[in-house]
Amino acid sequence: MHPIYEGKAKRLWETSDPMTLRMEFKNDATAFNGEKKASFENKGRLNNEISTLIYEYLGKTGIPTHFVRKIDDTNVEVKRVEIVMVEVIVRNVAAGSFCKRTGMEEGKAFSQPIIEFSYKSDELGDPLINDDYIREMGLATPEDLVFLRKSALQVNEILSGFFAEVGLKLVDFKLEFGRLASDPSQIVLADEISPDGCRLWDLKTGEKMDKDRFRRDLGNVMEAYEEVLGRLKARLAKETA
Ligand code: UDP
Repeated sequence: MHPIYEGKAKRLWETSDPMTLRMEFKNDATAFNGEKKASFENKGRLNNEISTLIYEYLGKTGIPTHFVRKIDDTNVEVKRVEIVMVEVIVRNVAAGSFCKRTGMEEGKAFSQPIIEFSYKSDELGDPLINDDYIREMGLATPEDLVFLRKSALQVNEILSGFFAEVGLKLVDFKLEFGRLASDPSQIVLADEISPDGCRLWDLKTGEKMDKDRFRRDLGNVMEAYEEVLGRLKARLAKETA
């Protein structure tokens, strides 16, 4: 069997149901558009657990997603979608490419969240694009973009609160969306939501608890992911207690 898609950190497999796929989380990590590579034991499991927990939480708040259920340590069942080739990035605090682009210092909190779009293309290095590019490239309609923006801001509200409750600042994150294979008029949140695609800073110490530990060789990468998972689990255990 071959996966129908293999990305840098995940594989997608067909199932007996043509409308359902299995998404497998790998231990591989990449940064700087694939230039830096490594593999971390348990990364697939940790990201799967964190992403599952976040998707279940978002599902309860009514955000439509591709998530169906967790299958095992490194696999989830998801609805088949056609990915919208636009990455939606939400920023609450200046970091990463925002700082590179503007010269602004890392850590400045924005008065309002910033939304930006990039074209999902490894070949081109995910370039920054705007609404007009997206329309003319045929990646999404202006109406789709209204929906993507609104959903991204909603997810930001929900997740900023969720992470704040466990002592983490949601600095920025990347979302992907897809059109349901069973009904392409419906766009849902897709891909993973994990410390691979979010910046999370400890609210007390400012310590980075995300993939920047790998990008910047800060060490203890998986320890940080484990800590994020532990805090989220403890928070949810309180809810069910
Ligand atoms: N991000 C991602 N995949 C990408 C680009 C960005 O998951 O291809 C995430 C990244 O982890 C961060 C946020 O989106 O949480 C903003 O990333 P930025 O544009 O600062 O890019 P970076 O310089 O970190 O690649």
